[in-house]
Amino acid sequence: MIVPEKIIYLDHNATTPLDPAVLEEMLPFLTTYYGNPSSAYRFGAQVRSAIDLARERVAMLLGCEPGEIIFTSCGTESNNTAIRSALQLDPKRQHIVTTAVEHSAILRLCGELAKRGSTVTYVPVDSDGNLDLDELERAVTSETAIISAMWANNESGVLFPIEKIAEIARRKRVIFHCDAVQAAGKLPISLRHSTINFLSLSAHKLYGPKGVGALYLSRRAPFRPLLFGGSQENGRRAGTENVASIVGFGKAAERAVEALRTEPDRIRQMRDQFEAAIIAAIPDVTVNGNLKERLPNTSSLTFDGIQSGAALMMLDQSNLCCSAGSACHTGSLQASHVLRAMGLSEERARGSLRFSFGRFNTATEVGKAIAIVTATIAKMRRLNALSSNLPERKPVPAL
Ligand SMILES: *Cc1c(COP(=O)(O)O)cnc(C)c1O
Repeated sequence: MIVPEKIIYLDHNATTPLDPAVLEEMLPFLTTYYGNPSSAYRFGAQVRSAIDLARERVAMLLGCEPGEIIFTSCGTESNNTAIRSALQLDPKRQHIVTTAVEHSAILRLCGELAKRGSTVTYVPVDSDGNLDLDELERAVTSETAIISAMWANNESGVLFPIEKIAEIARRKRVIFHCDAVQAAGKLPISLRHSTINFLSLSAHKLYGPKGVGALYLSRRAPFRPLLFGGSQENGRRAGTENVASIVGFGKAAERAVEALRTEPDRIRQMRDQFEAAIIAAIPDVTVNGNLKERLPNTSSLTFDGIQSGAALMMLDQSNLCCSAGSACHTGSLQASHVLRAMGLSEERARGSLRFSFGRFNTATEVGKAIAIVTATIAKMRRLNALSSNLPERKPVPAL
């Protein structure tokens, strides 16, 4: 096994470590308090109150009512639930408007729905990753069931003007879903005066456990559940609750509310210091995305003439964790669809790395990361130069 103490973890957009305070809050619900929250006796009721508290804490993070939150199994389920709900309201409205740079939990779902009679418009982005709002507005028709757009992009970190999109949706009388998985805990969110109808969260992106998500359902929005069965979550999501994880999610949300006061600035400083040092030390690097409207923790960099897959392996040898495109795509050799949508050539997209900083990173780690990345890129470029100077090998004759 890899010893975690040695790891420099710069991949917080893929997942975050569990905050120790979260684990502490979860443990009693994995051991002592195993009652079913739906049971009538007090041993069940006390578990139910723990879930109620978690719901209040998540609602606090979003500035909404606890009754507007349902717990799900992950961000992916929240996204699937929101879109499928909107498609069930009116058989004549089966059109989805989304963007070219969404997470696969939206894009693959839309691809699947398109095979079953839905139509999908993917609104493009410009070279900085910005959405064209006029184009988004023009895409909405009388058959549109839902607009789905992410708040913060997991690969580039670019932020979409979510309140403006919500306003377009309100004017057009279309449901608006926001994938806020990367935004929650990194930016202040207040839904109280918002016209967003549905909003997805995932605990493991904000120092909570994996396998639990939430979906905000505005009181004003009509809703159809994805799962039917027991009457958990007020009949809006059946299935016995993942109690310990929900409790952990609640604690993570509470920590996030406190952390939002100072943490984003501290993390932004580390990210900016890293970026500045890399740009100063390495020639031919570009920072991807709108540098003003961007998550404070994310740095997407393109290094001319390198292969990100090989770079990841070399960085891994130095115990540095980062990613090429999104984690969901590693293993498949596809260039990032986000960077391609931003107009990067296949080759440049394949030469890109994403570094995402987080709560437990230190200045010492940032210093080490700068040295490791600088040495790795220089080494890769030396190797590339060597191999391109080698005499061409004679082709092996076919048998
Ligand atoms: C991670 C992520 C998801 C999926 O969340 P899971 O809980 O891992 O299913 C969805 N959208 C975005 C933007 C993400 O970064």
